Amino acid sequence: MRHVAIIGSGPAGYYTAEACQKTFGDAVRIDIIDRLPVPFGLIRSGVAPDHQSIKHVSRRYEAVALTDNVRFVGNVTIGDQISIEELLGLYDAVVLATGAPADRPLDIPGAELPGVVGSAAFVGWYNGHPDHAALAPVLDGPGAVVIGNGNVALDVARILAKTEAEFAASDIVAHALDALRGHAINRVTILGRRGPHQIAMTPKELGELGHLERAIPRVDAADFPPIEDDTALDPGQRKSVALLRGFAEAAKAKPIEILFDFFARPVAIEGESRAERVIVERTRLTADGAAEGTGETYAVPAGLVVSCIGYRTSPIPGVPFDTRAGRFANDEGRIAPGLYAVGWARRGPTGTIGTNRPDGFLIAEHLAKDLPDDSGKAGRPGLDALLATHGVDVVTFRDWQLIDKAEIDRARDGAPREKFTSIETLLGARGG
Ligand SMILES: Cc1cc2nc3c(=O)[nH]c(=O)nc-3n(C[C@H](O)[C@H](O)[C@H](O)COP(=O)(O)OP(=O)(O)OC[C@H]3O[C@@H](n4cnc5c(N)ncnc54)[C@H](O)[C@@H]3O)c2cc1C
Repeated sequence: MRHVAIIGSGPAGYYTAEACQKTFGDAVRIDIIDRLPVPFGLIRSGVAPDHQSIKHVSRRYEAVALTDNVRFVGNVTIGDQISIEELLGLYDAVVLATGAPADRPLDIPGAELPGVVGSAAFVGWYNGHPDHAALAPVLDGPGAVVIGNGNVALDVARILAKTEAEFAASDIVAHALDALRGHAINRVTILGRRGPHQIAMTPKELGELGHLERAIPRVDAADFPPIEDDTALDPGQRKSVALLRGFAEAAKAKPIEILFDFFARPVAIEGESRAERVIVERTRLTADGAAEGTGETYAVPAGLVVSCIGYRTSPIPGVPFDTRAGRFANDEGRIAPGLYAVGWARRGPTGTIGTNRPDGFLIAEHLAKDLPDDSGKAGRPGLDALLATHGVDVVTFRDWQLIDKAEIDRARDGAPREKFTSIETLLGARGG
């Protein structure tokens, strides 16, 4: 028997469990350990609440979770309550699938002013992540700035722009819906250092902006290269750029404008005691496609500034860390004998949910080569004994199902599905 501990129950964790099941069949026991009492990582707390079809991928993970050789051990923080050394003593392999939960810092003057938030916090706030439920972002408008040209920036802009009715059938949390209901923001400016050809936004997410009830996307036609240049783009990017070109032609007025400000780099945030404006430097592309400043600056009024510029893995004591890259130091997933990384903790914050699947299979291949058939390590019973000595209040998958059911029951007909947002309430909802 091989004993595997996977730390983190997001896509990377579950795909690794699935791959281990396929590789080892009944000859493996897998514990998926998460610091939260609820599984699925960013599927629950990152993916936008109005993208329920994407969140449904968690049903696939449930199928894995409900097999005999996999169990979920929630409400246990590795590196805090239990150390990596302790786990390595109990399991043949410890796989870190802890994601990249911390915002990459926005390193400009004024970034510490009230009103400036990172996307991990802002997204966690509207998705009910217990770490961010108390965020209370400044929504008194009239301007908001979103920094970044990826899909997370689009998620943030869209959430700020939607009407309450447009959140029907989402699982946005009640505190966010209440706060957004009365917001006074009428212009959301999305800043990108480079141009329309360099965006990391996908057509589906961009297309949604064109169908919002009270908001209209705008792009300056002067920002585009000649249309013939679009043919050199890959098909997905060409589609995205075509959507942007369409936005440049939109004449219709709506109460909220979503303004794409390309070739625009934030250099400072200013305000008396809170963010009031972002100072932006105009950029141009260099021959090798980088952005360089032109020295021309201007101010964009903004009471709320959300930086969507990437994420970093949180270090764990005893695990080698690549500070520059912001993830665990690893060689194709191998960190040290018996210790592995997968998903965003291995590669950094890139790719979609599906990108984590081959990652999981890569780790299973490593395990097939590296692990003995039976090392005699204690595995599950050993962890249970250790958790008992530490007095840890563990949440099982059955407990999670009760939490899930209680959340669904709380939603009224047609109302958004509500989520519990504190660890205490989550633990209470399992009925024990
Ligand atoms: C805002 C946002 C929106 C996104 N939307 C989409 C989308 O629409 N479609 C798409 O395909 N992709 C989307 N993605 C990308 C997708 O969410 C990621 O590819 C995926 O979640 C990465 O999986 P992961 O398992 O590596 O990390 P995560 O999903 O972050 O999971 C990590 C898990 O580890 C746990 N953990 C962390 N530290 C510890 C510890 N010390 N001890 C125990 N547990 C720990 C966390 O609680 C968490 O459950 C989005 C990402 C973000 C940030």
